[in-house]
Amino acid sequence: MSFNEEEVFQLFKETEALLEGHFLLTSGRHSNVYFQCAKVLQYPKYNELLSAIIASYFKSFEIDTVIAPAIGGIVVGQEVARQLNKKFIFAEREDKALLLRRGFSLKEGEKVLICEDVVTTGGSVFEVIDIVKSNNAIVQGVGFIVDRSNGKVDFRFPQTSAMKIDAISFPADECELCKKGIPLIKPGSKKIL
Ligand code: ZN
Repeated sequence: MSFNEEEVFQLFKETEALLEGHFLLTSGRHSNVYFQCAKVLQYPKYNELLSAIIASYFKSFEIDTVIAPAIGGIVVGQEVARQLNKKFIFAEREDKALLLRRGFSLKEGEKVLICEDVVTTGGSVFEVIDIVKSNNAIVQGVGFIVDRSNGKVDFRFPQTSAMKIDAISFPADECELCKKGIPLIKPGSKKIL
């Protein structure tokens, strides 16, 4: 079974991973969308379905190892690796830099698929690309569940996502949603501000 983008969108709404309205973000900006990928990935069966979109895209690629940046990418990378029956490792942050720890390593020429849950600017994925290259291993592609960049991020390798989100955000004092009088909600609190 494979999901189309509309079905993926519905899944995010049903699990409240995606809420539409008028939200106060932790940055202080106001947005028409609140998004928390972990809310859908907390259900293993949904992680399986969403990760299958990535796994099916890359199933004809030569891949030895799936790698993900911690923490968000781990559940996705592990599941994609399970479906492709490949090794899975992750990079984690120590003193701000992503590193391979726990005895994880990449060999010269090892073919690698990078997975992530959410890509906004792609910073963590670009760091993992650097780790792969610095080990003389080969990036075969990048797969992620949600593209929050409105399709702008280009990793310059084959890439795929299960869903793209068009989110708009405003500085609090220039918010179009405030001007329309839509009640402002702080996510998690269910409180109208
Ligand atoms: Zn507002």
